[in-house]
Amino acid sequence: MEQNNYDVIIAGAGPAGTTAATLLAQYGHSVLLIERDRHPRFHIGESMLPMSEPVMKRLGIAWDKGNLKKGGAEFIDEVSGRRTYFPFEGKYRTFQVERSVFDKRLFDNAVAQGVTALEQEKVMLVDCLASHVQIDTDKAQYQGRYFIDATGRDAIMGKKLGSIAKINNLGQYALYKHYKLAETDVANALFAQGNIKIFLSEIGWIWCIPLTEGRLSVGLVVQKNAPDHLKKDALFEHHIQASAYMSELLMGAQALSEVRIEADFSYRNKQRYGQRFACCGDAAGFLDPVFSSGFFFAVKTAEFMADQLHQALLQGNEADVDLQLQSDAFYQQGFKTMHLLIERFYCSNLVENLFFESDRQLDIKQEIVALLAGDLWQQGNGFQQGLLRGRSKSAE
Ligand SMILES: Cc1cc2nc3c(=O)[nH]c(=O)nc-3n(C[C@H](O)[C@H](O)[C@H](O)COP(=O)(O)OP(=O)(O)OC[C@H]3O[C@@H](n4cnc5c(N)ncnc54)[C@H](O)[C@@H]3O)c2cc1C
Repeated sequence: MEQNNYDVIIAGAGPAGTTAATLLAQYGHSVLLIERDRHPRFHIGESMLPMSEPVMKRLGIAWDKGNLKKGGAEFIDEVSGRRTYFPFEGKYRTFQVERSVFDKRLFDNAVAQGVTALEQEKVMLVDCLASHVQIDTDKAQYQGRYFIDATGRDAIMGKKLGSIAKINNLGQYALYKHYKLAETDVANALFAQGNIKIFLSEIGWIWCIPLTEGRLSVGLVVQKNAPDHLKKDALFEHHIQASAYMSELLMGAQALSEVRIEADFSYRNKQRYGQRFACCGDAAGFLDPVFSSGFFFAVKTAEFMADQLHQALLQGNEADVDLQLQSDAFYQQGFKTMHLLIERFYCSNLVENLFFESDRQLDIKQEIVALLAGDLWQQGNGFQQGLLRGRSKSAE
């Protein structure tokens, strides 16, 4: 007979859901992972941070296989000609990954480690009762001791509880497209370095992320109101072509996709945990992708949560409403730091005033690199302490 009862039920098999599922299965708990789509499925968000590597190791994922090594992050203002580079030379490596392929690997790895996984099944209703959780999908009903919301930007619990709060002042939406580049000197140099390039643009910023096999991800994040006469494709092409580097790089390139759009940008979920449930990854909060922090937060929040939940499941106190208090405080420090950094990017000319000047202040440069690498819980980062002490327009 089909099993309908599990220790933990997880909705969403992106990086957050597969990480939480795999770690809980490693601890010996029974885990049901329910995914609406079927892997491999397209997902944007290809540039990773080095501090994700310890989590990948715990999962048993060799992420150097099939991905392009990322050297670091470059910030460029073509108008003034100023640029700076933050190399990732610490003890952890990082990569640019094709998310459809990589997310499938994370999913298959979860199944190989004992997770029961369902695809093309959508979680419709979640009821977190005092005694158990009840989950209704479009196909069946399941019971468990605990529910994890890893539904990404669908944020099923946040929407149910009305706890999603928009974060203003950051980017408004992103337009992006994928290409296969022609073999040119400029393309070869980009793939050899593997850096993400961030160009300051008139209405926001542009990402340029090299992938394997000559592929490229290009995005325009729009912050300022765009002129009315330029819509989606025309707006994207106009601003990409305005960059001399991007025009040269894309010479002879083959488009692999249409221009896609992702709106409803940054938000936080004000109720990230409660009786028998917790939210991780984008279901807990989403920040503008300028510092490539989304995947890292997804796997890191899932890791905190799984470790905390494991102890509670052993002791039988998983119904405690404050179970995730400690792991959430840890997450909050990281999320708030990144939020403040992104806010400075948009509202205080962080790149011009600090990043471009940082080659003359190497101690500060190292502290910035640490944050850009995802090292958000280190003691004694003076730059981070200053950020957290400073005034914010919207950080909690
Ligand atoms: C424009 C843009 C650019 C980005 N660039 C980067 C970047 O360069 N680097 C980076 O690290 N991050 C980036 N991100 C963010 C990154 O993609 C996300 O933070 C990351 O995917 C979050 O992982 P997750 O597991 O929380 O959610 P997701 O990866 O979105 O996974 C959620 C899963 O839940 C499933 N699901 C949803 N609802 C249900 C349901 N009801 N029932 C069952 N399943 C359901 C979905 O199908 C999906 O597979 C970017 C995001 C955007 C929008």
